[in-house]
Amino acid sequence: MSRYIESVCKLCRREQTKLFLKGEKCYTKCVLEKRPTTPGMAKPQRGKPSAYAIRLREKQKLRHLVSMNEKAFEVLVNKASKARESSGDHLLRSLELRLDNVVRRMGVATSLKTARQLVLHGHVKVDGKPVNIPSYACEAGQTVALSPKLKENVGVKLSLDTAKRLNQRPAFGEWKEDELSFRILRQPERAEMSFPVTEQLIIEYYSK
Ligand code: SF4
Repeated sequence: MSRYIESVCKLCRREQTKLFLKGEKCYTKCVLEKRPTTPGMAKPQRGKPSAYAIRLREKQKLRHLVSMNEKAFEVLVNKASKARESSGDHLLRSLELRLDNVVRRMGVATSLKTARQLVLHGHVKVDGKPVNIPSYACEAGQTVALSPKLKENVGVKLSLDTAKRLNQRPAFGEWKEDELSFRILRQPERAEMSFPVTEQLIIEYYSK
């Protein structure tokens, strides 16, 4: 599997949107805010982008937001296309309820990368059982909890402070600070999801 080894801020500059890939730095010293140009393009592109280019960029934006490679992302989109509900809704909901994303949204990690590490290193339990699979699909009614050992962890403390400051915990779950746990009360609604994309364009990109 290929790994992206350049600066991740370039991805934000490429998509011209904040993808929040660097954790705390994204809220304090964002590179995109200081340097809003597209990498490799000194001047803005002339003319309108094609319909294909618009769909491609939307797909890339979401793929980078969730840090997935093309193959895994395509599998997810294909699965969403077979769902009974709207494919776009199904895709975003399945991404929102991935365990790594739930850990990020409960505020114990400021980036998906850190959340994924917490899961992979066995610091996360779902309904009291350790789960170390970042792509684990959480469901309504489940409780995701971080190991109490990490209460004094500097990174976790910093993330909790940031979460408090930003006040962006989603309303589809109930956060308990003393237990470092988040109970998923119901399925997330579109407005509560953390993906600023037009999902229909992504579905259209793959149905070409
Ligand atoms: Fe993107 Fe974060 Fe870099 Fe800003 S600091 S450009 S949001 S990765």
